[in-house]
Amino acid sequence: MMKRIGVLTSGGDAPGMNAAIRAVARTGPAYGLEVVGIRRGYAGLLDGDLVELGPRSVANIIHRGGTILGTARCERMKTPAGLREAARQLEKAELDGLVAIGGDGTFRGAQELSKLTSVSVVGAPGTIDNDLYGTDATIGFDTAVNTAMEAIDRIRDTAEAHQRLFFVEVMGRTRGFIALNVGVAGGAEEILVPEVHTDLDALGANIRAQLAGGKRASIVVVAEGDDAGHAFDIAHKMCDGLAMDYRVCVLGHIQRGGPPTARDRLLASKLGARAVQALAEGRSGVMVGEVCGRVVETPFEETYANQKELDAELLQLLKVLAR
Ligand code: ATP
Repeated sequence: MMKRIGVLTSGGDAPGMNAAIRAVARTGPAYGLEVVGIRRGYAGLLDGDLVELGPRSVANIIHRGGTILGTARCERMKTPAGLREAARQLEKAELDGLVAIGGDGTFRGAQELSKLTSVSVVGAPGTIDNDLYGTDATIGFDTAVNTAMEAIDRIRDTAEAHQRLFFVEVMGRTRGFIALNVGVAGGAEEILVPEVHTDLDALGANIRAQLAGGKRASIVVVAEGDDAGHAFDIAHKMCDGLAMDYRVCVLGHIQRGGPPTARDRLLASKLGARAVQALAEGRSGVMVGEVCGRVVETPFEETYANQKELDAELLQLLKVLAR
């Protein structure tokens, strides 16, 4: 019988994690469950750093970025001794279930724990990168895209005033979801993403043609993990040969912070609640997500085995609209 569940946030922080914690803490009692917060992800679990989460203890957090529980990357958790200690702490805290909010590494950790204990584990996708199969969007993605879009709107004003070429680097070490969505929403001329090989000569020719065709400004959105390098390298390599004046702006961690958008709060609320429901109904080893407007559960193995594809139509649309 499920009586007591834990919740943790792990890996990179993402706006909306608090809304998910709140949903877990308030849905638990609806199923007769006590809820315990685990601070600093698996690092806090190993230290037994727990806090009881009653419905009142999550008041006034739905609108806050970051995570009230804190998060961490914890190498010890990946070792057999670390995992054994984490399992011991779960048992000591008398937890029957765990909601792990984070990315695929977080789910791997949860799955390993479920092999060592009788604790049921359910994941909720919390990462700005949107790089998880089994959900159309991850918690935090929409906020990060909106933050980067606002920054690009501002950059566009100054780029236009000076007729300048701007390279704007956004987060995305391995995937280009943020770059693609921001590129289309911000009206970028080009986007460079890790999934598509970057040909710097072709890029330079395109930009020249656009400026010759009467564009007053040009914005190139670069995912930080692009195969041609970081925004500074790309700008340097491309523009030196063309004698073009350019500026580079690396948006960095501002993309992680700030209040979550309505879309992220809604997603986090739905997924946090569904994660508790899944545990209460006896399920384990699944990630909750939203696909085509419906909340679904996907086995962890499937989330690792499949890669979510970039939207090819959106890529094509960007090219058409950048004319
Ligand atoms: P993000 O997408 O933001 O990077 P993530 O959850 O993928 O989030 P990771 O750093 O990969 O971030 O994983 C978070 C934590 O999960 C790790 O620091 C580690 O403590 C734990 N973890 C990752 N992989 C494993 C594993 N194979 N076994 C046990 N624990 C793991």
